[in-house]
Amino acid sequence: MTEVKKNFAVIGNPIHHSLSPEIHGMFAKEAGLLMDYEAVLSPLDEFQLTVETLISQKLSGANITLPFKKEAYHLASQHSQHAKIAEAVNTFEFKDKEIIGHNTDGIGLVRDLEQNLHIDLHGKKILLIGAGGAAEGAIYSLLEKNPLDLTLTNRTIEKSNIIKNKMNDYAKHLNVNLNVVDITKLPQQYFDLIINATSASLHEADLGLDNKVFHDQCLAYDMMYGKETLFIKQAKSQHAKTSDGIGMLVEQAAEAFYIWHHIKPQTKSVIDFFRNK
Ligand code: NDP
Repeated sequence: MTEVKKNFAVIGNPIHHSLSPEIHGMFAKEAGLLMDYEAVLSPLDEFQLTVETLISQKLSGANITLPFKKEAYHLASQHSQHAKIAEAVNTFEFKDKEIIGHNTDGIGLVRDLEQNLHIDLHGKKILLIGAGGAAEGAIYSLLEKNPLDLTLTNRTIEKSNIIKNKMNDYAKHLNVNLNVVDITKLPQQYFDLIINATSASLHEADLGLDNKVFHDQCLAYDMMYGKETLFIKQAKSQHAKTSDGIGMLVEQAAEAFYIWHHIKPQTKSVIDFFRNK
């Protein structure tokens, strides 16, 4: 029987920078799958039309990136648990007349931390900086790993409080202390893991973190990738261990690939490829 070629896409605006076509292409090659995966630029006010057009072209699924993850959540007719909690979708499955929305960002982050960076999150003290889509997508997955506590901070602290209110019952159920602390008042040398889920580095903006928040036993993880950010430079100056977010990017793609093809791709060589590019 001849294999039917399936079609996929990543939708965003801008989209030219996306590594997703290359990552999924590498996964498909390794799995011996026939697949097309293209980058689609959607006009900012025409996301729904873009999705409907792709469905009419018989796409099997799509990844969603900035700035459409919230809109994608509202467009989906069914949601995975991770998408429901994050109220954001980065992966669509198109099945019959249904649009199933998933969020694989948090799964990707935790998999990178645990499997690639060998961090056991259980019982750890975690600081999560940021309250945008990436931070919200990460919280549920981080809580699931039963850290001792998860501290949220953000430039606009009200947003951290809104997330805390939304997640507090779940955190309590897991016996995790969920706190919100002003970024200038963080306890010094307290955290095992500090995650930067802001886009501050895009504008070379300083987060205003005291140097003493870092120490040589903590891991500073920046979801951004492709360049050494100010956050990573500051962490290194205080002898903290560091990682960029390329592993998260590849792992969230691997989870999307699994949702679509029921095949778990090998990620290490793909992460190494992009890190050494
Ligand atoms: P959002 O636009 O939803 O959120 C941006 C966040 O950054 C907000 O918390 C915002 O604070 C904060 N921020 C922006 N500018 C500044 C600044 N100058 N100083 C301090 N804080 C600032 O973006 P996302 O959450 O979707 O993405 C955040 C980052 O995560 C991006 O860099 C993105 O590339 C990365 N990412 C990486 C992924 C990966 O797989 N590695 C996956 C998803 C995202 P405020 O609320 O005050 O505006």
